[in-house]
Amino acid sequence: MILFGNQSLDPFGDSTVSDYERLFEIFGIQPLAPLLSSFSVRHKYLDIGLAFGHRDIERILEAIKENQPFAVMSGIKPSNRYHMGSKKIADAVIYFQKQGGFAFYCIADIEAYEVNGIRPDESKLTAIDNVADLLALGLDCKRAFIYRQSKCSPVHNLAFQLASKVPMSLMTAIYGEKPFGYYLASIVQAADILLPQTEESSGPRPTVVPVGADQDPSIRLTRDLSVKFHGQLGFVKPSALIFKLTRSLGQSKMSKSKSETCLFLSEDTETAKNKIANSMTGGQPTTHEQRSLGGNPNSCPIYETMIYIPKTTTQDLAALRDQCRSGRILCGECKELCANLFTDFLNKHQEQKAKYVSLAQCIVEEGTCG
Ligand code: SF4
Repeated sequence: MILFGNQSLDPFGDSTVSDYERLFEIFGIQPLAPLLSSFSVRHKYLDIGLAFGHRDIERILEAIKENQPFAVMSGIKPSNRYHMGSKKIADAVIYFQKQGGFAFYCIADIEAYEVNGIRPDESKLTAIDNVADLLALGLDCKRAFIYRQSKCSPVHNLAFQLASKVPMSLMTAIYGEKPFGYYLASIVQAADILLPQTEESSGPRPTVVPVGADQDPSIRLTRDLSVKFHGQLGFVKPSALIFKLTRSLGQSKMSKSKSETCLFLSEDTETAKNKIANSMTGGQPTTHEQRSLGGNPNSCPIYETMIYIPKTTTQDLAALRDQCRSGRILCGECKELCANLFTDFLNKHQEQKAKYVSLAQCIVEEGTCG
């Protein structure tokens, strides 16, 4: 864990960031706002600042503009079901894939073993469920390589190579004191990120990794390794699009391990409605104060949930922020609106997902897309 003031970043645990601008100063993340006009295809996650930072994203924007090959790489630890944070990253992978990127999506079952003690054979069913969600959200598996870490020998071989240039001091500087398996999982993750740049994967080519801010330490490790292996393997530094952490319905980052404050894509509608009804908000304690002082959408998980609902547009979200701040909407009405839109999305998503379960099973068990 890296502490800075009362904030913390931990790729393996809970992170707390209240002031994202500090990440620019401390870690050298670059602000995204000055580059927004260079994105030819806009997305509400960009427009409303959910994606707030980047590392060398210009390289990807150039590849898109010039119609050059590039890759988008991400993945999931198969320790639980898809939640809003997983959806956010999957949406970003799909966004770049639609603009020409070849997608690499890793099922991080080695990390699930090292960090959560879940063996790869135990995580397989969760992996199938995760991949079915990914496909239902719109990933085109014909232009993607979806794989399990434990089954991917090119990743293992690359991880062995990368490990030869990782001093222990670097791992402790980036991650602090951790069990060695965490460091091992980080090097495997670096191999995942650099896989699109290997000759076997038709690389080197620019690669963008959409990540939450808590994963930036792993991006820094991988970029450092890409420089060390530039001469030998031709790697270039991977780019990153960096997102704010997904707020839970309680006070912290949305975490799959705290299911009562986390909205899953496989939730039944009654449970989802109850979770939304019981959620924290950025509103005032009384109706009178809400009407006179307004609420704060920026600290409100209900507002953030509205962002993830496919039906809401940038304009809808701007209107909601305005209504909230001016006290024209009360949190009860807002939650009801959110619950209706969210459950409508859930029903459609789950209907779509059911069509992809057998394909997801083929991908996870046999590594093929039919
Ligand atoms: Fe959140 Fe809506 Fe209440 Fe504003 S009105 S604080 S957006 S729940």
